[in-house]
Order: sequence, then C-alpha cells, then structure tokens
Amino acid sequence: MQILYVTGLTISQYIEQRAWEQAKLESCPFHPKGGCGLEKHGTYPRKFPEYCLIARWYCPKAHSSISLLPDFFACRFPGTLNEVEEVVDTAESCESLEQAATFLRPEITLTSALRWLRRRIKHVIEILTTAKGILGSTCPAILKLWRKRYFVKNVLQDLRIKVAGRLHAFPPILGLAPRSVSRYFTKPPSNNQWGLSSSP
Ligand SMILES: [Zn+2]
Repeated sequence: MQILYVTGLTISQYIEQRAWEQAKLESCPFHPKGGCGLEKHGTYPRKFPEYCLIARWYCPKAHSSISLLPDFFACRFPGTLNEVEEVVDTAESCESLEQAATFLRPEITLTSALRWLRRRIKHVIEILTTAKGILGSTCPAILKLWRKRYFVKNVLQDLRIKVAGRLHAFPPILGLAPRSVSRYFTKPPSNNQWGLSSSP
C-alpha cells in the first residue's frame, strides 16, 4: 500500500535533500498499536521525470509493503501532479483538443497524442468531481475556475494535502486507493468543455 509523505518539497528539492532518507513511518497502518514487527524495507525507484527513490516498509503480519509516496507525485501514473495539471491547463486554454495535443506532443501521431491528453484530462475531471462531492463545492470541475475560487496555484497538489485523511476515496492519480478499487467512480460529470465522461 501507499501512504502519503507530506514533504512540502518540489521534486528537485526532494532529490537534492535525499528526502526519502528522512521519511519516517511512526506506526503500521494495519496495526497502529504495534507489535507486528514492522520493519524498514529499503527503497524503490521512480524513474520519471527524474530518477529518485521512495522509502518503503514491510509488515510481516499483513504480508504487505508500505511505501511513502511524496505529495508531489502522481499515484500509479508517471510523473508529478503538477505536470498533469500543466497539460490540462494547456488543453483548457486551447481551442480544441487536437490543437492542444499537437502542441504538447508534436513528436508522436495525433491519435497517440490525443489518447495521451484525454487520459490526463479524464483523471483531472474525475478528481475534481470527487473533490466537489467530498468538499461540498459548487465550483465546476475546471482547473482555472478551481484555482480562482480557492486561491491556489497548484490545484491537485493542494487537494492532496487538503484531503490527506480521505485519499482512499479519491481516484488515481490523486488518491492512494489500491489498484483494484473502483468504488470512487461516482456519477459522471454532466458538463465539461470536452464532453468527456468520468466513467472508467
Ligand atoms: Zn503491521
């Protein structure tokens, strides 16, 4: 399982400070009272956008490893939350998805670029739609409107911290739910500028 490592750092600072070495897991998430033999279990690498390490523990009683995912990283998706946000920002400011896809990924075919872009847009719409429900917000699931409404620069990373205790209820790439869990898919958003549904 993955749990959140609140660093307040950028990826460059995380690498520079080797912050995975300072990561601490106070108690086992499966056995908060202890006594399960929780032990440090080395690190594993994330290779994109830059090589860095993620601290990991192991609970022998639950037969499960527990890793501390830094707050800036997307979960089960390459790269950082800010990178995804920037891509969707570009799409929001372009006249069409085709224009955004060509601009963002000129080195690949338009079909591949559109698929790449739609996947990111879908993640952001799903996250903001879930956030609306959980936070009781009336703000449309559009980054620039969310930014204006809540006075935040990085919407996704800010949400990560704001809803840190409820990340299990959020879809990837913000939430830390197990891969197989699909309960976070609620009703699809009725309106977004691309007419994309949030269903899986
Ligand atoms: Zn344990």
